[in-house]
Amino acid sequence: MPILSQSNPQRARSRIPWVAAGVVTLLFGMVAAFGTVQNMPEPVFVKTVVESLALPAAPEDKNAGRIFFREDRFQRGDTISTLLERLEVDDQQAERLLRSREATHPFRLLRPGTTVQARTAEDGSLLSMWFIGGREQLISIEGAGEGFTTSEQPVELTRHIQMKSGEIKSSLFAATDDAGLSDNVAIQIADMFAGDIDFHRDLRRGDKFTVVYEMFDHLGRPVKSGRVLAAEFINQKKSYRAVWFQDKEGHGGYYTPEGKNLRKAFLRSPLEFSRITSGFAMRLHPILQKWRAHRGIDYGAPTGTRVKATSDGVVAFAGRQGGYGNMVVLRHGGGVTTVYGHLSRFANGIRKGTRVGQGEVVGFVGQTGLATGPHLHYEFRVNNQYRNPLTVAFPAARPVAPERIAAFRLVAEPLAARLDLLASTNLALLE
Ligand SMILES: [Zn+2]
Repeated sequence: MPILSQSNPQRARSRIPWVAAGVVTLLFGMVAAFGTVQNMPEPVFVKTVVESLALPAAPEDKNAGRIFFREDRFQRGDTISTLLERLEVDDQQAERLLRSREATHPFRLLRPGTTVQARTAEDGSLLSMWFIGGREQLISIEGAGEGFTTSEQPVELTRHIQMKSGEIKSSLFAATDDAGLSDNVAIQIADMFAGDIDFHRDLRRGDKFTVVYEMFDHLGRPVKSGRVLAAEFINQKKSYRAVWFQDKEGHGGYYTPEGKNLRKAFLRSPLEFSRITSGFAMRLHPILQKWRAHRGIDYGAPTGTRVKATSDGVVAFAGRQGGYGNMVVLRHGGGVTTVYGHLSRFANGIRKGTRVGQGEVVGFVGQTGLATGPHLHYEFRVNNQYRNPLTVAFPAARPVAPERIAAFRLVAEPLAARLDLLASTNLALLE
């Protein structure tokens, strides 16, 4: 039985004879079934829906010949030729066209990570091929007479809500990979809890997360993930929960299900969280915290990693200073200053007097000054007294306004109920 979603590359390459018109109709039918979920929907489990969808045998049209449908991801290091080979397209004219370097050629928008679909005839000649480009454009080439036509047209993506959970075994990205979540979702999880959890230093084996997020489909296939609507992160046995809520003007943020703001005056970590830094800097065992003697926190990270202002502030110093090498000092409210040392370079416009917002890049990791390898040295001082930024309590931004709390509950309660549901499912599985 042909199956729509193929995570197994062996299966993905098996020949699936489809009569194209019949298939397209069927897929649109499925999209319509998902298309009922709009606005702030009741989140639904759809994790396995696409995967388990079995197609009925396509009606055989003896005159049309057999049509093959395949898909594969365009990967880093791929060329058009290697991609076509995996798609079992054997068509020199199509290959020449796709390899042309004309500036107007729509396939120039093909980026690594993009899923490409192709329809071919039995002899491998290309009938059509398409993918979804950056600005939600459906980019396709289609056989037309002796040649091909190319087109770019907007696609209407169908939104639905998906829910997944995972457990940290080695890193957040390894866990999100296991759960089939995109990097986009992993980074949103790290960002939404950035006021409570330092994802470079606080994660431990056995930490768990549950995430409710938007997924966009095209022709019934998940093509990209959207915003995280709710999440729970259990870090060192402590549970943190967040739901997304937007005010009437469209400004959104993450709140606890009780309406407290998740945004804190300071980020826990000044280091940009990415697949690279998570592998580089995350430790899954308690860290020997030498900050008392050292008076700062060191974050190992590759040279060039972005360093972010942990809070709104003004640059008090940006320049070279002894063992610190290239250093930025930010002055914040309440007598707090933060220090960022050993930078390879400063971000554009960072000089004495510049105002920066929380999360804004002030510089890049390096090993200037007294440093044996690339790392960031970070200090947190209150009235010039050194404090441990991993343990100091940070004030939260404003909670949901009292006049909005009723509207907030309408959004938050069903989302929190979903988190409860999965949390209890997980517990049942553990028992
Ligand atoms: Zn240091």
